[in-house]
Amino acid sequence: MQAPVIPPDESTRLTALRAMNILFTPAEERYDRITRIAARLMGTPIALVSLVAEKCQWFKSAHGTEIKETSREVSFCGHVILDEDTFVVENAAADPRFADNPLVTGEPYIRFYAGHPLHASDGSRIGALCVIDRTPRSVKPGELDELRDMAALVESELQRGRLSDTQDDLMRECDELKRKASIDGLTRLWNRSAILELLGAELARAKRGAPMCVAMLDVDDFKRLNDTYGHQAGDSVLVELATRLRRAVREFDSVGRFGGEEFIAVLSDCNLETGRAVCERVRDFVASEHIATPVGSLSATISIGLAACESEAFGLERIIGAADAALYRAKHKGRNRVEIEDSLLSDNPSPVPG
Ligand code: GH3
Ligand code: MG
Ligand code: MG
Repeated sequence: MQAPVIPPDESTRLTALRAMNILFTPAEERYDRITRIAARLMGTPIALVSLVAEKCQWFKSAHGTEIKETSREVSFCGHVILDEDTFVVENAAADPRFADNPLVTGEPYIRFYAGHPLHASDGSRIGALCVIDRTPRSVKPGELDELRDMAALVESELQRGRLSDTQDDLMRECDELKRKASIDGLTRLWNRSAILELLGAELARAKRGAPMCVAMLDVDDFKRLNDTYGHQAGDSVLVELATRLRRAVREFDSVGRFGGEEFIAVLSDCNLETGRAVCERVRDFVASEHIATPVGSLSATISIGLAACESEAFGLERIIGAADAALYRAKHKGRNRVEIEDSLLSDNPSPVPG
């Protein structure tokens, strides 16, 4: 196996990558959208946005594989960043540089690979947009142009900015280890402690008169789904629900996995009407389309409790408690519905005492 060499501009490149504050952050729909399209256009099962860090390559978006990072030595993308051209391997199993590479001899069984470099604003090559097939193939005319165009789309997202200010600040404060520890391994959303920290920061940041909403989401009858179809099918459902949740909320909202089959969305600068519309969109998106799992296509629904508050006035526990109370009502009223708790709003005629 031939490990990729370290490029001469490595330290500039790593500085540019670190300045982007994107390594080890949660998955984002704007990148997932591009890898979905890339896979579809190129007809490959896998497409990745890979960032090449000092020791590893880490996937900001991974369509078609559960692998989240690999060592840099075995990475194909480590080769892409050595050059401006698209890097193509038609059959890795027959290529002496890759034939004994563990990504070829094992998961995800790479045969065809095409990757185009991604640049930071200073021109450094910080990663690659790549597509991967498990069977050998050659490149069709025009395909590399499409890959190059999509890499340019990834670059404009990279340069356009990041998560919301609050999420961005949290990541800046964390070292690599804490960043990784803030992301839920299964769904690639924020985990419980990170989303609570974000909610606290949003509450502190919010201005008087600018309401915010918190939505608690819980999968309906999930125990039965697990019991009927198995834990692995349950996991696939959770992964797909997280994807739909990311797709349905606004881009600067924060979404986390609160517990087993419970999610939480922090909708900053959002009044009750907008919050309700966002929640209805999520609910409908889950209920209206079946979910592909290893045991076939399944249907699922979620119940949502939404609480709005004028942020300064109330603490973390009360807003979560209010959303939880609304969720409880949604369950009680028959599930697959959104219930609202507006008692924390100051213009509410009957505010909750205490
Ligand atoms: P309800 O509509 O009232 O919410 O009913 P429910 O069955 O969803 O609620 P309950 O709290 O009884 O069950 C939640 C289930 O979620 C039980 C647990 O086995 C399952 N679960 C929790 N975490 C995971 C996970 O990571 N993967 C899978 N597959 N299942 C999980
Ligand atoms: Mg639950
Ligand atoms: Mg449940």
